[in-house]
Amino acid sequence: MSITGDQSLLREINRMALVRVVQRAPGLSRADLAKETGLTKSTVSLLVQDLIDEGWLEESDVQATGAIGRRPTPLFLNGKSLAMIGADVSLDAINVLIVSLTGEILHEASEALASHDPEKAIRQLARIIGTLVKQAQAAGRYLLGIGVGVPGAVLDRQGVVKLAPNLPWRDVPFQASLSRELALIGVKGLSIQVQNDYDVAALSEHEFGDSPLPDPLVCLGIGVGVGAGIIVRDRLFLGADGFAGEVGHSILQFDGPGCSCGRRGCAETFIGQRAISTRIVGNTEDLLSVDTIKELVDRGDEAAMLAVRRAGHYLGILIQNLWMYFNPGRIVLGGPLCDLGAPLLDAANACVERYALDCQLQLPEIRLSRFGSRWVAVGAAALVKHALLRPLDFGLRLN
Ligand SMILES: [Zn+2]
Repeated sequence: MSITGDQSLLREINRMALVRVVQRAPGLSRADLAKETGLTKSTVSLLVQDLIDEGWLEESDVQATGAIGRRPTPLFLNGKSLAMIGADVSLDAINVLIVSLTGEILHEASEALASHDPEKAIRQLARIIGTLVKQAQAAGRYLLGIGVGVPGAVLDRQGVVKLAPNLPWRDVPFQASLSRELALIGVKGLSIQVQNDYDVAALSEHEFGDSPLPDPLVCLGIGVGVGAGIIVRDRLFLGADGFAGEVGHSILQFDGPGCSCGRRGCAETFIGQRAISTRIVGNTEDLLSVDTIKELVDRGDEAAMLAVRRAGHYLGILIQNLWMYFNPGRIVLGGPLCDLGAPLLDAANACVERYALDCQLQLPEIRLSRFGSRWVAVGAAALVKHALLRPLDFGLRLN
């Protein structure tokens, strides 16, 4: 790809490099930014003024430094002007948020997923987005785009859901269909990006987390499906086809239980909600909700306790494997099953700590998601920001 001569793209690369630096180190001055990026001071001044005018950056009050005079004006991301739409399409619900550039949730709407038929689900999503777009615009927000997290493998460049085994969807042209449905209700001109739910969840931690950010960062989501989002060197790591991080379908046991993907012995068949439910009720058809499983555990139901602890043990094995595959600086856990709390998480911790002891290595930091049940929707909004801040990677032409 040749970028010489494409001044608008070069300018966008420079502008977004400045935003990324301010995000990483809030409070830098224009002179600091010139040093950090290698751009001239005059270029930085011009671009920063642009970014302030468009609502990306803001100056804080000029701070007096006593006798010597005034310190250069510190710059920060502006959370009051721009916003992104993030949607979480899960197996049973659609949750849509409007999120500011600095990660505040401004508006929210949730509905039960009315149908697993992809066209109907996408139409329902478009309607909810349409309502929130009006609310955001009425509040004076400029919208940068729409991100959607779905529980499956996504061909990210085409926005096609290649395989979502738990819905079950295969080769759904999600981005094109959503664009068409939005146009029908008068919502036009917003870029749409579709990505795997736990991939975008990782972006919620990466784009809205506090500096310094750990790298690599692995976010492991556990629900009916199990998957990981991986950030390496400041970028979402997607693999050759966009399937990287589908660790719920890594094999934990040769010839183990049958999985929704067609293989046998996948991690999901030991850790996922269906695995726990099946252990409790004795069949795969009656899927217990997380709330029901939690009630049983709280009541001291022995079968439920055993099933949850067993899942926790396998979760520990999966965490140990992710630790060795990626040597992450931090592993973040999220997804509905985290609501089961100590019985699941303590079993996982005990397991992974034993492996650490066996090999005499220090475990990475392991913590729960800061956005709780909203981490996929917040992450979908973060995907919009992540892509805009990296115009070369995502090939976006903005001007
Ligand atoms: Zn599988």
